[in-house]
Amino acid sequence: MTAEVHSFQAEVQQLMNLMVHSLYSNKEIFLRELISNASDAVDKLRFEEITNHNLLKSDKENSISIRMDKENSILFIEDNGIGMSKDDLMNNLGTIASSGTKKFLEKLSEQDKKDSNLIGQFGVGFYSAFMVAKKIIVESRSAHGAPAYKWTSLGDGSYTLEESAKETRGTLIEIHLKEEEKEFIEDWRIRGIVKKYSDYVTYPIFLIETKEDGQIEETRLNKSTPVWARNKRENKPEDYQELYKQISMDWKEPMLWEHISVEGLVPFNAVIFVPTEAPFDLYTRDNHGLHLYVKRVSITEKCKELLPEYLRFISGVVETDELPLNVSREILQQNNKLPQIKKQIIKKALSSLQHLSTSDNEKYLKFYQTFGAVLKEGFHFDYEQHESLSELIRFKSSKTGKEGWVSFKEYIERKAEGQKEIYYLTGPNFESVERSPHLEDLTSRGIEVLFLIDPIDEWFIMSYAKHGEFNLKSINKGDLDLTGVGKENEEEKKNEEKPVEELVGLLDLFRTKLSDEIKEVKISKRLRESACCLVADENGMTAHMERIMKATGQ
Ligand code: ADP
Ligand code: MG
Repeated sequence: MTAEVHSFQAEVQQLMNLMVHSLYSNKEIFLRELISNASDAVDKLRFEEITNHNLLKSDKENSISIRMDKENSILFIEDNGIGMSKDDLMNNLGTIASSGTKKFLEKLSEQDKKDSNLIGQFGVGFYSAFMVAKKIIVESRSAHGAPAYKWTSLGDGSYTLEESAKETRGTLIEIHLKEEEKEFIEDWRIRGIVKKYSDYVTYPIFLIETKEDGQIEETRLNKSTPVWARNKRENKPEDYQELYKQISMDWKEPMLWEHISVEGLVPFNAVIFVPTEAPFDLYTRDNHGLHLYVKRVSITEKCKELLPEYLRFISGVVETDELPLNVSREILQQNNKLPQIKKQIIKKALSSLQHLSTSDNEKYLKFYQTFGAVLKEGFHFDYEQHESLSELIRFKSSKTGKEGWVSFKEYIERKAEGQKEIYYLTGPNFESVERSPHLEDLTSRGIEVLFLIDPIDEWFIMSYAKHGEFNLKSINKGDLDLTGVGKENEEEKKNEEKPVEELVGLLDLFRTKLSDEIKEVKISKRLRESACCLVADENGMTAHMERIMKATGQ
């Protein structure tokens, strides 16, 4: 039978060109990508095996093996996973199917960035092997039993397909190394790369070497137990960092991680991570969640049922043996064990942030500036966590200046004499609230006022009206009685003594002239320098909220 020739989808060719020319300094990751595909393929097999008993059997344990032909500089990577039919080969290795790869492509071409770091951010996948290969052959037999096929390409725009004699299930990939990439045929190099990127992989990765006397030697290269299932004390920081890179597609180190092992009613192991920088889709993403494993089988990469929206910047892995392996999406949603795991995860995440805030405030504030606004959404959605969340939020205030921050705790510690409420002022930004005439009286009395200047703050304040025994009180709404709070003020006394009759005429004039615009005109005690200011009704919206509502067309 002659081989069929097919062209790659245009984007594939584009991707390969970009990769070959841009990512030259980080070529070794091709092996990580091939191993991760092999591991995915075994995952898929194990998953399907549960309900389908007609899949092809393998006489080997589920594993990945690496061999080399040093003489011809060929690297072999083989798995006994789900395999690919002819159609699978065409669809998976001729087009760009994965959305991660698509994003990578967009990012790379849009910025024209010759930045090899990007490669860690996205799973660049199979095609990365063309960075080191002059020719790649993929022989694969689907576990569903169709005849095996052989896919061959020189990475030059087309590939060929022909039937293959492979009888065993799974995929065998031959990487014919380019002349200048021969280092990848050295076994120390392969060991190093596997250790660096793929140590966590669930299935054994064997290096198969033929010794001089013809003996075949099999060495396992990766650890046997994944990071999250090991004892915390056995893990090094690097173990967590590697796991993070693998699951998050972020090339930066994580800011924080927490290894959670819960015995209790629903036992589970988890590792969660807080990234150093916000992912580009922090405010638009709807695919947050944790990678869920059941008995070492990957069930879903983004299990939403394990993480609330307001912690969507967290990534991580959860493994529990308490769910059936063939659990479907629908079952996940109804399952009553996941909410219990989720609750524990929220608790641990918040306490670990709390811990960071006391042990390394500077780092915590960096976290807060990146993710604080998202965290605040929790006040609206998670009443139960109000107390922990309230310990985690920070504000600008009339005393912190533009760069500083204050917590509720600090605010209360330095409250003014006789102060029984927490005062705040909302506004669109620091400058505009700092200049507000509403502050004058409070500032002169030495009372600190929190500046609620995040767009989310209007919603935050609707959900959180009281901190401990302190009501949160807007200083530009309704009457503000500051008698006996803070430093008494000479001028205040004088104001009080001023005969009000003197002003009655003036007030009437304002009332008639502005009757369409305002509800009431009053003599104010809150001003020092300014002649007048606008005050919202106690139960009405603040001016800032009115602006937000207007802006959103309401
Ligand atoms: P991704 O892994 O992100 O989907 P890749 O480019 O790495 O993207 O792989 C493309 C697709 O090719 C995979 O989704 C999978 O369907 C298929 N594939 C790659 N390698 C294997 C393999 N060893 N066994 C079975 N399928 C594979
Ligand atoms: Mg892949």
